[in-house]
Amino acid sequence: MTDTHETNANAEDNSDLPGQGLTREEAFRRMLDGHWRYLMNERKNTDTTNEDRQRHVHGQYPFVAILGCADSRVSPELIFDQRQGDLFVVRVAGNVAGDFEQASLEYAIEHLGVKLVVVMGHEHCGAVKAALSYTEMPGAIGRLLQEIVPAARNAREMPGDLLGNAVRCNVCRAVDTLMANSACIGDAVASGSVRMIGLVYDLASGDLDFQRTIG
Ligand SMILES: [Zn+2]
Repeated sequence: MTDTHETNANAEDNSDLPGQGLTREEAFRRMLDGHWRYLMNERKNTDTTNEDRQRHVHGQYPFVAILGCADSRVSPELIFDQRQGDLFVVRVAGNVAGDFEQASLEYAIEHLGVKLVVVMGHEHCGAVKAALSYTEMPGAIGRLLQEIVPAARNAREMPGDLLGNAVRCNVCRAVDTLMANSACIGDAVASGSVRMIGLVYDLASGDLDFQRTIG
């Protein structure tokens, strides 16, 4: 568990700056600042004004790209207390890093200039739970679960909570897959312009459990 909230709480508020102008460290801090407000019940991004909508017509300037689970309980805009247009979010059950998810994240880096890429899993993930008891099944759900099965297999060799370990393994696998398969992401991280993070969101506490920080 990595917790930067203490230093974060006293950091300068940069939450109104355009996302594209941020460094990876500033983007990371902005994300953590929003999460801290969420934890403290001090969310400030609760309204979308007509002015906001008009601004969005002319373009988007997100400061982070997030690959998250489609689960209804893990909405990034709420968890990180951000506005429409701040987060470029790719959501799919089990936060798997397939071709289309990878392509979407690459778009965010190459064309939108995000400096932070986050893979966010969560405790009690139904997709990961299903993968732990996976048996051959036809169709799209079977193909999706097959993407999670290797993480489930790794978790079975670990002591402790099976589902929690499988969730963490699945996040790390997605990070590693993106780093290995995507020259765009790998090069951006290697050059120091982009930071890649893998974390697990705790449904009960709202905390973030950091599994990977690269760059
Ligand atoms: Zn899930």
